[in-house]
Amino acid sequence: MAERMLKFVSVEKGMPDKRQAEARRSDFNEIYGEFAREKAAEQSARCSQCGIPFCQVHCPLQNNIPDWLKLTAEGRLEEAYEVSSATNNFPEICGRICPQDRLCEGNCVIEKGFESVSIGAVEKYITDTAFERGWIKPVKPLRELDQSIGIVGGGPGGLAAAEQLRRRGYQVHVYDRHDRMGGLMIYGIPNFKLEKPVVERRTRLLADSGATYHSNVEIGRQISLPELRNRHDAVLIATGVYRARDIKAPGAGLAGIHEALDYLIASNRKGLGDPVPAFDDGTLDARGKNVVVIGGGDTAMDCVRTAVRQGAKSVRCLYRRDRTNMPGSQREVLHAEEEGVEFLWLSAPEAFLGDRYVRAVRAQRIHLGVADSTGRQTPSIIEGSHFNVEADLVIKALGFDPEDLPVLFNEPELAVTRWGTLKIDQRTMMTSLDGVFAAGDIVRGASLVVWAVRDGRDVADRMRSYLQAKAAAQPLAAD
Ligand code: FAD
Ligand code: SF4
Ligand code: SF4
Repeated sequence: MAERMLKFVSVEKGMPDKRQAEARRSDFNEIYGEFAREKAAEQSARCSQCGIPFCQVHCPLQNNIPDWLKLTAEGRLEEAYEVSSATNNFPEICGRICPQDRLCEGNCVIEKGFESVSIGAVEKYITDTAFERGWIKPVKPLRELDQSIGIVGGGPGGLAAAEQLRRRGYQVHVYDRHDRMGGLMIYGIPNFKLEKPVVERRTRLLADSGATYHSNVEIGRQISLPELRNRHDAVLIATGVYRARDIKAPGAGLAGIHEALDYLIASNRKGLGDPVPAFDDGTLDARGKNVVVIGGGDTAMDCVRTAVRQGAKSVRCLYRRDRTNMPGSQREVLHAEEEGVEFLWLSAPEAFLGDRYVRAVRAQRIHLGVADSTGRQTPSIIEGSHFNVEADLVIKALGFDPEDLPVLFNEPELAVTRWGTLKIDQRTMMTSLDGVFAAGDIVRGASLVVWAVRDGRDVADRMRSYLQAKAAAQPLAAD
């Protein structure tokens, strides 16, 4: 092993080629290319095959990273794919969009002074190659079962559960209020981080595996939750979190001020070739505008970088904390800066100025004081520090809360936490309603794709136990 691996001493960390910022600014294509075969093998060989691999410990899926790195270094790609896909339903997606600096790579313990192994890029390379070579086939269960499952929400949580349950032969029906499956992977996350054909080949594969999609169906409106429970032997709620947090400030109702997700969905739909009236009439198009995005998370970073690509005149990001205290990935801030975004750290909006349309954001400076019980420094306003930022499109990206599901589903017995997320029994992952399970952001609050996949896989196991017990109680049912 030692001969082939442990190359971190002689080989520097490398990533697939990153396109120059100038070229990136004018299209929505992903910014990284693909590793060449030799490069992927060389980078994989930097791994020192740790006895206790902290990369794996800090991957939410506990991916067997050292093994697939070693197999890639040895050129045994098909086996690398088998290992990688054993723990992850969407390795090529996680490889693209996980914040690796906070997860696997951030915990890679190559000797001090050497940069981590490029884990995400290798993970993406393995599965993209597997698709290209035709190694990835639709799931074929050993036998079909009669029991059926209704999944509400076709995001990564719902789809990961769907695939796991199809493997076991259950009849899986996924309901989504949108016209395409994929959840935020299709309509939230921009193309330059995750190209849509990458998501679409996954949703197609699942359909070819026998999952039935019911798109344009909103549970709670077109079909009630009780009706869904009657149709299926078990139900999974994986609806994500979508209620945008708002800003209460004078002028907040002016035209030209929009929610981040409305803006991103319009842009993604446009990229997918859909007619988008609110984009076509200029409302949600940043072209030629001075854009101000408020917020410091990944959604804000996606908005600023989308505005750059739409040809905005200027793009500024207003955030009340500083760079080191922002929730968004540092890697994404760097990309945004390279692409010409200006960050106004320690600044918060006080009012929106304009007659009918917004023309400026009045902001004030913030001082970060001592840390509170959560360890975060408390922001306080510096009196008399007002300044105006020119704006004719303002995008609010302050995070998301869950919708009021007991009301939406007209199901007061559906228990929620004080944050509005669904309450589940941690052991069974079942909600307060018998046979109704929940997973993903609707349980965790706004999180990550990789955590939704983790939850989807876990809940599939728990649902299977429930369904087996149910079938055993009804001797004529299958399984
Ligand atoms: P979702 O992906 O939100 O899917 C839920 C689905 O349920 C949606 O399709 C919705 O239409 C559907 N639905 C909701 N209510 C109903 C109903 N009543 N009836 C029928 N269907 C319904 N994570 C990362 O790991 N990396 C990133 O780079 C990243 N970037 C992000 C950028 C943005 C702009 C946003 C908003 C999020 C980002 N995330 C990122 C977070 C990630 O997308 C989510 O954590 C993840 O998608 C959650 O998965 P989910 O399956 O729980 O829900
Ligand atoms: Fe790293 Fe995410 Fe892949 Fe896990 S799933 S190995 S955290 S990129
Ligand atoms: Fe390899 Fe880094 Fe993981 Fe160690 S922590 S097994 S060096 S990738």
